[in-house]
Amino acid sequence: MPPSEKPARSRETQLNGPVSVVETACPLDCPDSCSLAVSVQNGKVLSLDGSHRNPVTEGFICQKVRRFGERVYGPDRLLSPAIRKGRKGEGRFERVTWDAALERVAQEMQKASAKWGAESILPFSYGGSNGLLTQDTLDATLWRRLGTSRLARTVCAAPTGAANMGLYGKMPSVVYEDYPEAQLIVLWGVNPNASGIHLIPFVRQAQARGAKLVVVDPRSTQLARAADVHLAVKPGTDIGVALAMHRYLFTNGFADETFLRDHTRNAEQLRERAEAWTIERAAELAGIPAEALERVARMYAEASPALIRCGWGLERNRNGGSAAAAILALPAVGGKFGVRGGGYSMSNSASWGIERTWINADEPDTRVVNMNHLGRALLEYTDPPVGVLFVYNCNPAATMPDQHRVIEGLRREDLFTVVFDQVMTDTAMYADVVLPATTFLENYDLAKSYSTLHIGLVRPVIEPVGDSRSNADVFGELCARLGVLGENEPGGELDMLLTVLGALPASIGEDLREGRNPAPSFGTRPVQFVDVFPNTPDRKADLCPADLDTSAPAGLYAYQPDPATEQYPLALISPASEKTISSTLGELTGTDAKLHMHPDDAAARGLDDGDGVLIFNAQGEVHCTLSVVPTMRPGTVALAKGLWRRATRNGMTSNALVPDTLTDVGGGACFNDARVQVASLPSA
Ligand code: SF4
Repeated sequence: MPPSEKPARSRETQLNGPVSVVETACPLDCPDSCSLAVSVQNGKVLSLDGSHRNPVTEGFICQKVRRFGERVYGPDRLLSPAIRKGRKGEGRFERVTWDAALERVAQEMQKASAKWGAESILPFSYGGSNGLLTQDTLDATLWRRLGTSRLARTVCAAPTGAANMGLYGKMPSVVYEDYPEAQLIVLWGVNPNASGIHLIPFVRQAQARGAKLVVVDPRSTQLARAADVHLAVKPGTDIGVALAMHRYLFTNGFADETFLRDHTRNAEQLRERAEAWTIERAAELAGIPAEALERVARMYAEASPALIRCGWGLERNRNGGSAAAAILALPAVGGKFGVRGGGYSMSNSASWGIERTWINADEPDTRVVNMNHLGRALLEYTDPPVGVLFVYNCNPAATMPDQHRVIEGLRREDLFTVVFDQVMTDTAMYADVVLPATTFLENYDLAKSYSTLHIGLVRPVIEPVGDSRSNADVFGELCARLGVLGENEPGGELDMLLTVLGALPASIGEDLREGRNPAPSFGTRPVQFVDVFPNTPDRKADLCPADLDTSAPAGLYAYQPDPATEQYPLALISPASEKTISSTLGELTGTDAKLHMHPDDAAARGLDDGDGVLIFNAQGEVHCTLSVVPTMRPGTVALAKGLWRRATRNGMTSNALVPDTLTDVGGGACFNDARVQVASLPSA
């Protein structure tokens, strides 16, 4: 047991017994990985707060996780395994034992394997927890050894990740603590007020020290309003804006030719592809003033240290991979590396260089299913068909593109669906078997931040609620039932915790065991091109990687036109919200989701704030309430990401309107390519 397992402090309350405060960490899909102090009384969570163990998150946490107790003890919590009794989607289940539920699951997997082969089993998971134990441990062993279909987890960060890998081999990037060193900060497609809130104090600190702030976002977010320049670009046009900045640097003598010669490859190709992107052309495309774009290009050219944070909003469209690559190439062309506070900042998920060597099975060469094509896979794949769908750590009925087809697929009577989750999600309503999972307050895990360089130990602060069990325990038991676990292999959560700790680089594992904050070998505040270099064979940045160039339909850095039509002229975006972490906690967001629209767009349609509206296109429709807000750019409307079906009047989320087309690079989701019309909702 780790030494800090003991309650950090306790006090007696006269009426209700002692209150203990237990240190743990947040493994949810958020960049920050806060250290937490959880108050527990009589075995129940009283409250969650920040602790000071993680020096970056430093004692404060988001409102979302402060409410986490409402999930733990809420009416949607799954308390026992259950088997479907009613029709799919009705949500009628009968409680069974774990033994009966797992036996049924094992039998159905065996049946599907015998009938169509193991590729007919589709495991489906995403970042319901980003912990090192709750995904890619015994689950991966199970799927690999059975030879199931493999899932391309591309719903988020695939285009930015592919661009970062192609250009820099996922070199570690600038961390929050170094933002105050910057003289210019560009927040591109990211809203820290909704996700990654701990960045904000560092940005404010930089501003207080004289740094200029630029925000590129279709919406006027809180930070955009505090910025020196806000570029409210049309969704999908970031590529043109970034290439115009490159052209400005190249043609005005601001390109760092020495750096390009010594530390990059293929700069000439980038220069040629940027050549057509004048400031005027890019500004017109993006619907922003040319003077504002030119000002940003000049500010960037002249400032040092200059820092770009590349977010995820810019990737969710047909041009997303090229946009990310062009943005990430800016510090190389502008010569912004080599100083603290200069360079780029983005997901540091790969920065620790942790190889998952604890997955004690080779990855088979089986079918790969892109998760953004779930609807197609369930309805159209025949060779083999999907016979068993095993969903964990995610809620695809609410979160995947082309929602109508996903739900139609989940309704298939010949599909056997398992949902292993903490609460009765939209997807669980279609399950044949539901399995109750522990939350991070009830199991061990290792929470690895993807913005800062921090890993925290997640420890159970309460006993599992109901009959819930941890991912590692359940997948270990399934491995054993299906005969794919060796005799002396780790088969459950505690074994797996020790195995992972043992497989981490020695200093990290030891620090975690001893209750210290681990650091990677290059330290927690690396300076790019000083402490860390591209993870490419020649340690150079590749500004036009051949694999990205050939995979993009029109080549890397090519602009693919807007899919808007006269019939569906409005761009619908689904930005991260302050209420959910992806769709986690979506059960708590209420039933009256709001579509955000600019006053001019509302007036043009005769709509008023508070009206019931119909958002529609050829794929489907969503019924909800209108919120008229000047913070939207005209021509763009927003309905929050992560909503559950109960949040709208007709039980459909923005994904009912999102095509299942893929980004140019990385196979990502094109959430922001939904083009729609909005009208008054006829009264019932
Ligand atoms: S979701 Fe993010 S901000 Fe909230 S507690 Fe977890 S790590 Fe911290």
